[in-house]
Formats: sequence, structure tokens, C-alpha cells
Amino acid sequence: MTDTLFSKIIRREIPADIVFEDDRALAFRDINPQAPVHVLVIPKAPIPAIAAAEPSDEGLLGHLLLVAAQVAREQGLGNGYRLVVNNGADAGQTVFHLHIHVLGGRSLQWPPG
Ligand code: 5GP
Repeated sequence: MTDTLFSKIIRREIPADIVFEDDRALAFRDINPQAPVHVLVIPKAPIPAIAAAEPSDEGLLGHLLLVAAQVAREQGLGNGYRLVVNNGADAGQTVFHLHIHVLGGRSLQWPPG
């Protein structure tokens, strides 16, 4: 996999507003927020997209969801929030390092565009 912006954020080569970190995951604010709270939760392992995840990633993927829920709680999203994983061109994925968008702080429309 080629290096992405998110690998550079993990290595602290480019700045980010980090809200959570442990040995397997990092969460930081999106540079172009689509809601009052917009955080990206990423694995430190360079998985390009959810479609590229392997059965051996099962525990890591569960961990990322739990981190997303923890971030949402800590960001005060008790009234509700949305988790989004874009996969591939038709979904508008632009950074090919798996990430979960945590969106909240306003009423969100359904279905998404
Ligand atoms: P995607 O469209 O791939 O699901 O989402 C990629 C997200 O990464 C976008 O919401 C975009 O605003 C965000 N993003 C792209 N480059 C950077 C960056 O350098 N720093 C941060 N914090 N977010 C970024």
C-alpha cells in the first residue's frame, strides 16, 4: 500500500487535532468538518479500505467501532451520531487508509446523498 496522509498523521509528520490514541488506533478531527463534531477513527495498521480487511483484522475492526463510540461519548454526542465508512470511488472515498467518520452535533439527514 502506498503511503497516505493518514500514515503521515500517525507518524506526526503532519499535524492533526488528535482526540484519542492507543496502540492500535488514532482519532483526530476532520480537516473539513461536515458537522459540529467530525472525527476520523483510523487503525494504525495501513488497511486501505474496509474491502481490503482480512479475517485476521476482525478484532481490530471491533476495536475501531468501540473507539468510535467512546469518542462520540467524550465529544458529548449523547443525542445521537452517525458512523460512516466510505469504500471506493462510488462512495467518495478519497483517502485510502481505512477510517470511520464520527459525525454529530446536528440533526443528520437520511438517506445520505
Ligand atoms: P473519505 O472521503 O475518504 O471517506 O474521507 C476522507 C476525509 O479525510 C475527508 O473528510 C477529508 O476532509 C479528510 N482529510 C483529508 N485530508 C486530511 C488531513 O490532512 N487532515 C485531516 N484531519 N483530515 C483530512
